[in-house]
Amino acid sequence: MNRRRVSIFGATGSIGENTIDLIARNSDSYDVVALTGASNITQLAKDAIRLNAQVAVTAHDHLLTELRSALAGSNVEAAAGKAALAEAASRPVDWVMSAIIGSAGLLPGLKALEQGATLALANKESLVCAGGLILQTAENNNARILPVDSEHSAIFQGLVGEDMAAVERIIITASGGAFRDWPIEDLANATLAQASAHPNWDMGQRITIDSASMFNKAMEVIETHEYFDVRSDQIEVLVHPESMIHALVGFNDGALLAHVGPPDMRHAIGYALHWPERKTLPVERLDLAKIGSFTFRAPDEVRWPALRLAREVMARGGLSGAVFNAAKETALNGFILGTLKFTEMSEIVDQTLSNMDSKGGHIDDTMTLDNVLHVDHLAREIAQHLIKQRAG
Ligand code: NAD
Ligand code: MG
Repeated sequence: MNRRRVSIFGATGSIGENTIDLIARNSDSYDVVALTGASNITQLAKDAIRLNAQVAVTAHDHLLTELRSALAGSNVEAAAGKAALAEAASRPVDWVMSAIIGSAGLLPGLKALEQGATLALANKESLVCAGGLILQTAENNNARILPVDSEHSAIFQGLVGEDMAAVERIIITASGGAFRDWPIEDLANATLAQASAHPNWDMGQRITIDSASMFNKAMEVIETHEYFDVRSDQIEVLVHPESMIHALVGFNDGALLAHVGPPDMRHAIGYALHWPERKTLPVERLDLAKIGSFTFRAPDEVRWPALRLAREVMARGGLSGAVFNAAKETALNGFILGTLKFTEMSEIVDQTLSNMDSKGGHIDDTMTLDNVLHVDHLAREIAQHLIKQRAG
């Protein structure tokens, strides 16, 4: 069998490490081209050497010397900075894992698509900020995007062999995160440590907090709308505390196809790695008799205003996804730094969206990379200003 050339963007993160786990178990099947990270140089160098990567890239220019010395004596090239990330993403590969966190993941994904590589897309910000652009780039270059979020992988699998015209609705499940059972009046005082503990999934800190606020699910609703080209009113969110059913597809004959599996991202990653085949994966096999029951409840938009904001973003269209995401990333930074309360994050996003709306006529909302980056920058400034106003 031909060895496949693969790159992993965001290799040192939670998704990146799970991807490396799968690739390392079968290292004879892959040639690793680029691994990228940000601050965790020790981890990046260790993995790059172990997988015999062509190049290791840190996003931070000032860490180049440190990376060079960590790679000393190996054959792995060291590189740093945004331009180096873009260059690494342009190196010929067959398959790319896009697992950088935040809108910084957009550019490497586009570069990978431009060379026709298959893009395994974990970076949800790409579809939220620039869905039209990323899908068009894939189409123009005859490249494929495979979803890696557990919900979107589940939907994708539920649609194999089906006609989209027969799909009535798509239901994505949400665990409800750390605060699903908290009294609503206590949410304002939720601490960073409390928001960073997920009941079911082991993920990076930012997405864990986004799960507690439901911004993660809000992003996933928008991703579903973009990727599967379904209307907002066809997408439902269902709270399912066990996180075993990841999504359901509802058809015009009343059938609901559910995807059931353990909460382990190596399933969705492995599915995208081996697609269109299925291969044995090292994930737990569920014993349903032992589990006994699954529970469900309707999502509460008072507890989780992010869900309502996602609907607004889809109704507005244009570049409002980029505004939403940039405001959310900025508000999340505020919460992590202790300048914003947990419940203020959604208020900042709401206000940033309204504020950008008032600039409506002055912003070109054609979906080009430049316009997305411009709006991303503006929305961060506005959100930051709103946060300062509250503090002052
Ligand atoms: P993480 O925080 O664990 O890792 C993020 C990675 O991005 C790291 O390698 C880090 O070095 C790199 N990075 C951070 N800032 C960067 C920057 N400015 N430029 C370049 N690289 C940078 O995140 P994660 O939980 O692995 O999530 C990665 C992406 O996958 C996110 O978009 C997240 O929403 C999505 N996702 C994650 C999970 C999960 O289970 N963790 C599930 C579904 C989707
Ligand atoms: Mg998910």
